[in-house]
Amino acid sequence: MPKIPTEFHSFETDEEFKTCCDCGCELLDSAQMYMVQKSFSKDECLMEFALCQNCKEKLDEQISGQSKEAIYDFLFDHAEMVEPPEDYSYDDAMEQIEECLTCGKEREKCDGYTYSGLFVGTHLVPGPMPMMICDNCQETMAENMSDHTKGVKDKFYSENFPGPPSEVDLPTSKPVFF
Ligand SMILES: [Zn+2]
Ligand SMILES: [Zn+2]
Repeated sequence: MPKIPTEFHSFETDEEFKTCCDCGCELLDSAQMYMVQKSFSKDECLMEFALCQNCKEKLDEQISGQSKEAIYDFLFDHAEMVEPPEDYSYDDAMEQIEECLTCGKEREKCDGYTYSGLFVGTHLVPGPMPMMICDNCQETMAENMSDHTKGVKDKFYSENFPGPPSEVDLPTSKPVFF
């Protein structure tokens, strides 16, 4: 059994995410794909969650086509989507979150950043994810989003993440990947 890289463990429990943040379904023993996303300001983890495919699809359905296109256009215009090599390893995969997908800025030089990965059980799913986006690029993407999409995202975040710890400043833009 492969192990989930520690970068994708829950900061809160120091272990793998075990359930979907939205519906609470089991993730590790399931064949269902899920996404783990974490946002940081410097070294401080501001937000983290695991979201199952069902819940992700429900959210995607609510996002307007226009915003989706804006996001994907942005990603494809700025990102190199690489095919995973045959001897694809977790180490290769984790290299992908060392630089911003769209501007190439190194993670350690970023003030804020968000990274995401897709998993099935404890298997990392190869592909464009895992990916990391710096806060500057996130802001650019947010500008291309419709108010409707922003509303969907805000609702999701406020329902699942009530009230940030008072001592941290929330990033000006919410992470873009559900
Ligand atoms: Zn779910
Ligand atoms: Zn960037």
